[in-house]
Amino acid sequence: MGEIKKVGVVGAGTMGNGIAQVFAQAGIAVTMVDAFEPSLEKGIATIRGSLARLVKKGTLPQADADAIAARVKPSPRLLDAVEADLIVEAVPETFELKVDVFKRLSEATPPATILASNTSSISITRLAAKTDRADRVIGMHFMNPVPVMKLVEIIRGQLTSDATADTIVETTRKLGKVPVLANDFPGFVSNRVLMPMINEAIFCLMEGVATKEAIDEVMKLGMAHPMGPLALADLIGLDTCLFIMEVLHRELGDDKYRPCPLLRRMVAANTLGRKTARGFYDYSPST
Ligand code: NAD
Repeated sequence: MGEIKKVGVVGAGTMGNGIAQVFAQAGIAVTMVDAFEPSLEKGIATIRGSLARLVKKGTLPQADADAIAARVKPSPRLLDAVEADLIVEAVPETFELKVDVFKRLSEATPPATILASNTSSISITRLAAKTDRADRVIGMHFMNPVPVMKLVEIIRGQLTSDATADTIVETTRKLGKVPVLANDFPGFVSNRVLMPMINEAIFCLMEGVATKEAIDEVMKLGMAHPMGPLALADLIGLDTCLFIMEVLHRELGDDKYRPCPLLRRMVAANTLGRKTARGFYDYSPST
């Protein structure tokens, strides 16, 4: 298993454009694919904005920023990414959508290409089973915002080979990130631990244990968390939190993962957090 010299990123949204940026910053040529032209343009604009902030701060020379931006080639066609040594999928968190991308990549790429998913909760083993190379399928779970967060959770599927895992660990280090290995269980480590904590904070609010501000303050000051769990849930999106709790509940079959009824009610009301300007806190411009 050789060095990764060319990368494809599929999906240019919140995660995809950040992933493309960090590979380009490491000197690797990237083809960033998105099926929707406006998302592709927004992805490129986000990368340029992010690099411009580094230039303004004085941490990146303008010439380097230009070179990094030039290393990311946008394309609306999946087939433009097939010459990559590694393709990282970052399309929305729907099994059918990801399977479609993995099947098409499996058919169109040479057998040596490594196929990675940035999924937060979908089984790497199940995705791998839809391809012709389960040994070369792996999870690369970047954290949001990608250019800032150091961790990449590397998830080995049931049949992921040692060579594939070694290549991805080494590549992650080249990005200046810290790889941490996990096995393919629902929610991996990050969401298996984080989401039940957020869910429990919502139970505390629903049961009147304390106010939302008090719950967040306890976790910030008492546990040294940079953000309280309810503010964090607003940032992640309550629909995403509910989706991941449902995955944990269904796939681990234990009622300790039951989603809090208040979480369900807030999602039903479309108060999803920052993205709808209203969640546990109010984010409307006037406040
Ligand atoms: P997003 O909705 O911001 O971006 C997804 C992008 O994929 C969109 O730009 C969309 O146009 C594009 N797309 C949809 N179908 C496509 C297709 N068939 N081919 C190519 N592009 C397509 O989503 P996101 O938040 O970036 O999440 C992507 C993945 O990363 C999900 O699996 C999610 O669970 C995971 N993830 C998200 C976060 C987060 O905080 N947002 C953190 C870690 C992991």
